[in-house]
Amino acid sequence: MSVDIECVVVGAGVVGLAIARRFAQAGHEVFVTESESDIGTGVSARNSEVIHAGIYYPTGSLKAKLCVQGKAQLYEYCQTRGIPHKQLGKLIVATDASQHTSLESLFAKGRENGVQDLEWFAPQQARHLEPALQCTAAIWSPSTGIIDTHALMLSLQGDGQQSGAQYVFNSPLVSAVKQADHNFALKFGDADRTEITCRWLINAAGLYAPRLARKINGLNAQYIPTEYLCKGSYFSMQGRVPFSHLIYPAPQQAGLGVHLTLDLGGRARFGPDVEWVNHEHYDVDPKRAEAFYDEVRRYWPDLKDNSLVPDYAGIRPKVVGPQDVAHDFVIQSQETHGLIGLVNLFGIESPGLTACLAIADHVYAMNQT
Ligand SMILES: Cc1cc2nc3c(=O)[nH]c(=O)nc-3n(C[C@H](O)[C@H](O)[C@H](O)COP(=O)(O)OP(=O)(O)OC[C@H]3O[C@@H](n4cnc5c(N)ncnc54)[C@H](O)[C@@H]3O)c2cc1C
Repeated sequence: MSVDIECVVVGAGVVGLAIARRFAQAGHEVFVTESESDIGTGVSARNSEVIHAGIYYPTGSLKAKLCVQGKAQLYEYCQTRGIPHKQLGKLIVATDASQHTSLESLFAKGRENGVQDLEWFAPQQARHLEPALQCTAAIWSPSTGIIDTHALMLSLQGDGQQSGAQYVFNSPLVSAVKQADHNFALKFGDADRTEITCRWLINAAGLYAPRLARKINGLNAQYIPTEYLCKGSYFSMQGRVPFSHLIYPAPQQAGLGVHLTLDLGGRARFGPDVEWVNHEHYDVDPKRAEAFYDEVRRYWPDLKDNSLVPDYAGIRPKVVGPQDVAHDFVIQSQETHGLIGLVNLFGIESPGLTACLAIADHVYAMNQT
C-alpha cells in the first residue's frame, strides 16, 4: 500500500519546522520526517541564539534579504507567542585604527541592507553603554537580540500540529525517486514503512542536505554542492561579566569573530571560533581557550586568566571551503534543477535561525509558481 502526501519536509530543525508550519497553515497536507528522536537536535541546537540585524551579508543576497525580513517576523512572532527573547542590542567594535575602514564598510553595508537603526559610536559613546569595553570605534546595532531557540522550535511544531502537520521521528529518509506521475517515491531507514509518495519534497536536512540530495534519483549532480564542515567552539565564563549587550569584534572570513553573547539568564559565553573539520564531532578542546584569551582581551583587557571553561560546539554547514569567500544560502527549486516539486536547502548557516520564518515564506512561494 502507498500513501500519497502533498508535502514532505525532511528535517525537524528550525528551518524544516518553519517550512512545515508555512505549508500546513496554507492548508496543505504536511509530513515531517526526522532521523533523530526529537526536534532540533542538529545545527539548531548548537548556535549563538542571536537574532541578527542583517548587517554582514552582501546587499541583495538571500542572507541579507531573508535576515532583515526574518528578524522583523521573528520579533513579532516571539511577542505574540510569548517566546523568551530579549532585544539587547550589540556593539561591533574596532580595537585599533587599522580596522576602521572595514568597520565603516560594514556600517554602509548594513544601511544598504535595510538596517536603518545603526549608529556609529566614538569610543566614549561605546563606553557609556559598556564601561569595561576597550575600542577605538563601534557600530551600535539596537535591533540585535537573543532568543530561546528550543522554545521557538516547540512553538513552530505546535503551530504545524494545529494545522494538521504530522511529525515522525527516528525516520531518516534514505532515497527518493521521481516517478512518471511527477510525484516522489520515498524510501526510509525503517524498511517496513508503508510506501510514501509526495508532490513536494523539501530537503531541509542541515549538515546532511547535500548527502541526501545525492540520493534523489533524477537530480543532476551538478546542482549538489560539496559540503564543508566548519566547527565553532564556545567557552563560557566563570563568574559574571560586566557587560549587558552583545559584543562582536570586526568580522573574520568564515565566522563573525569570537564574540560575547549573553543567554537569557545573563550568563556569558564566548565564541564560536573557526575550525574546519572532516567529520561531525562536538568535543571542545580546552587548548583552544588560549586563542580566545588573546581575541577577547582586545576588547576586554580585564578578562582574568583561567576564567574560561569549555562549553559546547556547533558545526556550520558550508558550501565553500576555507580558501573561498563566504557563500550565500543555496535554495534551489525546479527553476534551477528542473525537478518539479523538489526544494533543496544547502549551506543554511548563520543567519538561518533569524531568517527561518522568511526562508519558509521564500520556499513556499517557490512552490506556488
Ligand atoms: C556555531 C553556529 C552559530 C550560529 N549562530 C547563529 C545565530 O546566532 N543566529 C542565527 O540566526 N543563526 C545562527 N546559526 C545558524 C543556525 O543555527 C542555522 O542556520 C539553523 O539552525 C539551521 O537549521 P536547519 O533546520 O537548516 O538545520 P538543523 O537544525 O541541522 O536541522 C536539520 C535536521 O535534519 C535532520 N536530518 C538530516 N538528515 C536527515 C534525513 N536523511 N532524514 C531525516 N532527517 C534528517 C537532522 O537530524 C536535523 O535535525 C549558527 C550556526 C552555527 C553552527
